[in-house]
Amino acid sequence: MEQYIELLKSNKIKVTPQRLAIVELMDVHGHISVRDIFAHIKANFPSLSLATVYKNINAMVESSFIKELKIVGQDAKYELIKEEHSHMICKNCGKVDDIILETNAIVTSASEISNYNIDESSVQLLGLCPDCQ
Ligand SMILES: [Zn+2]
Ligand SMILES: [Zn+2]
Repeated sequence: MEQYIELLKSNKIKVTPQRLAIVELMDVHGHISVRDIFAHIKANFPSLSLATVYKNINAMVESSFIKELKIVGQDAKYELIKEEHSHMICKNCGKVDDIILETNAIVTSASEISNYNIDESSVQLLGLCPDCQ
């Protein structure tokens, strides 16, 4: 729990028991939706509402502490900011896995073709995970 307190503090986010629980869930699950977070922690915080969880998540997204991951056909998922990575998404079970890919070549070529000045990229690859094949 101590490492989560440090994580919040170093990002200048006020430490509350709810936020600690949210951060711990994200760390354990990797990518998790607000609904799933709520389902996991509501037993520990009987007065907690779904709206409050959304509010906490939004505050943490705004302070660039967690990242929103929009996936077509799924609820948005959230993860702790870490090394830049791409995502593998299973079209059958909805599982999301991190993968480190070399995307510089894609970004450079996209920039050349489009004349865009690209400062952010997000790669999502969809298919069937090993369990669903
Ligand atoms: Zn799957
Ligand atoms: Zn990820």
